[in-house]
Amino acid sequence: MKVYYDLHIHTALSPCGDDDMTPCNIVGLAALCGLDVIAVTDHNSAANCAAVEKAGLKAGVTVLSGMELETAEEVHVVMLFPSAAAAEECGKEVGKRRLLVPNNPEIYGRQLVMTHEDRIAGEEKNLLVTATDVGVYEAVKLARKYGGAAFPAHIDRPSHGILQMLGDIADDMGFAAVEISPAACDEFTDCWIKRGYTVLRNSDAHYLENMNQRSVNFLELDSLTPENVIDKLGRR
Ligand SMILES: [Zn+2]
Ligand SMILES: [Zn+2]
Repeated sequence: MKVYYDLHIHTALSPCGDDDMTPCNIVGLAALCGLDVIAVTDHNSAANCAAVEKAGLKAGVTVLSGMELETAEEVHVVMLFPSAAAAEECGKEVGKRRLLVPNNPEIYGRQLVMTHEDRIAGEEKNLLVTATDVGVYEAVKLARKYGGAAFPAHIDRPSHGILQMLGDIADDMGFAAVEISPAACDEFTDCWIKRGYTVLRNSDAHYLENMNQRSVNFLELDSLTPENVIDKLGRR
């Protein structure tokens, strides 16, 4: 079956994420856009995953729990997990392995932890957009430790993209999928398909209006479960 996706979406927990990126708004818009599956991927934290997952049940949208890890090399890697509980466990480990610098909401924005009914449950005090001590060669292993998969984010972008930071993707990093920006050209996409990667085009939305629409981007799966998505993205 064809599964229409957007597997890289930020909530209001990310300092750069708009305060309108609430659980109900995100799943509601995903349903309107005709998406079958979305993923919550805030910077270095999974604190809003459970809320969006629960809101997704009501809206009829499958929600994968994840996070956008910033590696020690300042490369962005999206990790996806089979459940919010697994993502939160990984989030605890990442929380111990990231630089703790207090957030200044006036400069970076608020970092809102929310309930599945869009109420504010708290605020993350330390800035989430900092590097961790997880190296890029460890990212796939870290995701697998919690039953998940990992892929380098927006590889064609100069800011925190793996190609700009490191030059290339080595086979022994263990990635099976790569994410390219919506603006990347077909030749670039074909190059990564030829190299054997599953190529994802996610929105990396920080604002509601940037989320993917149902489009030519889909995954072919036997059935839509978080485990099947993770399996598809985790194996070459
Ligand atoms: Zn990023
Ligand atoms: Zn992102």
